Amino acid sequence: MSGVPPLPLRFVTSASDVSTLPESEGEMAFVGRSNVGKSSLVNALANRRQLARVSKTPGRTQLINLFSLHDGHTLVDLPGYGYAAAPKTERRRWGPMTERYLLERSSLRCVGVLVDGEIGPTPLDTAVLDWLRDVELGFRVIATKFDKVKASKRPKRRRDLAAGCGLLESDVTWVSASTGVNIELLRGRIIEWTRDGPPPIRPLRSPTPTPR
Ligand code: GDP
Repeated sequence: MSGVPPLPLRFVTSASDVSTLPESEGEMAFVGRSNVGKSSLVNALANRRQLARVSKTPGRTQLINLFSLHDGHTLVDLPGYGYAAAPKTERRRWGPMTERYLLERSSLRCVGVLVDGEIGPTPLDTAVLDWLRDVELGFRVIATKFDKVKASKRPKRRRDLAAGCGLLESDVTWVSASTGVNIELLRGRIIEWTRDGPPPIRPLRSPTPTPR
């Protein structure tokens, strides 16, 4: 989809408990390792340089940050995981707070799992993907920092990153917040996914027919 205007994202609130979040007509949540490029992506989607700074202000980095989108739809920025420098208590809190949000937020239609395109999925990323599959939450993988992968290495990196996530290449959206690659495409997808949820993930191989 081309020509999709910036998403009209507006910061609404931060919360540590899913039960205190305002209602939503349909929500997408971004998760990812710290430094994956989540704030840069939120800013690029809205074409606002400082929008996601709110998620980085002291006291908010470990909270659920909610942005309004359009027609009562919302986007949630969940705390980054695996940030070694975070105090232990904050690291421990990531799990329960985020898990509760993911399991109890009835308006959640799609989890966007950000994977660093330059380095590929980490063990923590694949653990998050396995967990989302287990609890049967709709998700999509968004690979960040496309511009950091050398053009000559892109075909192999696309294959490897998708395989590392257990996905077909076509089920991974590659973006660059720096150069704008696929940002309009992703805007369009987010509008669809917050409304209808993502289409089912296609299986890696077609199932072997059962012998008669
Ligand atoms: P967050 O911790 O996930 O919110 O990550 P940030 O958005 O703060 O980005 C982490 C670092 O990666 C920063 O130095 C960004 O400038 C850089 N970064 C983010 N997105 C891109 C991108 O698309 N291309 C490049 N080259 N760098 C990026």
